[in-house]
Amino acid sequence: MPALPLSTPPSSSRLARNIHSLVLETYQKLPSKCKPQLPHQWTVLSSIILRLPSSSASPDSEKDILECASLATGTRALPANLLPQAQGVVLHDCHAEILAVRGWNRFLLGECRRLVETGSSRILEHVSDEANRGLGRKVRIKENIELWLFTSAAPCGDASMDLQVRLSTTGGEAWTSQPDTAPGEPLRGHAHYSHLGYVRLKPGRSDSLPSNSRCCSDKLCVRQLLGSLLAVTEVVIGKGTDGQGYLRGIVTPNSEYIDEGWQRAFYARVDDMAKDATIEDKENDGGYNFRPVSFEVCDELPAPLVRPSPEGNTGGQIKPAPVSAVFIPNCYPAAITETLVNGVKQGHKRFGGTGASCLSKLSIWGEALDIARLLDDEEGHKQLQEGGYDSKSLPRLEGRIQAKDIMKKSLKNWGT
Ligand SMILES: [Zn+2]
Repeated sequence: MPALPLSTPPSSSRLARNIHSLVLETYQKLPSKCKPQLPHQWTVLSSIILRLPSSSASPDSEKDILECASLATGTRALPANLLPQAQGVVLHDCHAEILAVRGWNRFLLGECRRLVETGSSRILEHVSDEANRGLGRKVRIKENIELWLFTSAAPCGDASMDLQVRLSTTGGEAWTSQPDTAPGEPLRGHAHYSHLGYVRLKPGRSDSLPSNSRCCSDKLCVRQLLGSLLAVTEVVIGKGTDGQGYLRGIVTPNSEYIDEGWQRAFYARVDDMAKDATIEDKENDGGYNFRPVSFEVCDELPAPLVRPSPEGNTGGQIKPAPVSAVFIPNCYPAAITETLVNGVKQGHKRFGGTGASCLSKLSIWGEALDIARLLDDEEGHKQLQEGGYDSKSLPRLEGRIQAKDIMKKSLKNWGT
């Protein structure tokens, strides 16, 4: 069984400080239309940061080489009753952490293109036909690449429950009320504080329309066995031989980290069945193993990237910003910056069929199809084409499907 992550995070390591500075520096490059309007809006900021091995030629081999793969902001999710209209164009879940992970996937597909067109990539390498038995994925993530998630707020759901209790102004009622959901189904939002360790649905606020999206704590928790790739990306890109496609850790400001909640959400509530799982993947040498994330804390962030305190927001005048930002600064062949409103690019009607973000299901699938063709990966191309933009049950995803199933069972109330 994998070792328990550190029970108390170190007081802001050099790595955490460097990640914090790089994320802030990258955020500052965004145009102001992507950002919350001060002083009445705030948002959550997340980013996937790559830690690359320092080159032997580097004069200071101790120095971390960090690169921002993706950065995103956002706190909204599409209500469940509107899902049938999304059609792969409208993003279901615009929480920052989820967009950052999708952004990392979009970045990786760009790296495939770079590898084919320029002959080299710092992130990806070709897999020999011998290694993939002539059938599997043609590229994989290189060794020694670490993925870190930075997030300005505790992921919604279980990891943030202890913080919600601390910030709660509603008294004991929410502690004692019984959930009205069926056993085995996720709880809704942040209600029922006394129930810890449970899968929950967005949004946190009880006055918003319910969604079908699990909370970020749950989605990220599952990725400890599943890895960081989306299903469609994983059809064409291998995670690598030694878990380089998994998140290594999460960095968050000190005030957002409550050890008990984070440890429970990411480790204690996960069943041994998942922690001990070893799932082979015939065509992906890495397979699937539970790799617990570690936690690091960093300094606080400036407004509008801080959660408003109950005292500072007594009249509820500081609200979550309606816009989301997506930034993939090193995407090949060109950086991508988008401002999203209601899950589509700003200026487009939500269900007008246009304005799909580069992170929408349709766009990522289209890019993966293109990449499969560029890589001469006929089998991958065929599977993607047959499966369509929402397909999750393709032959190349057999191991992944098993891994996801184990995680869902392990979390007990994932639901249907
Ligand atoms: Zn969230």
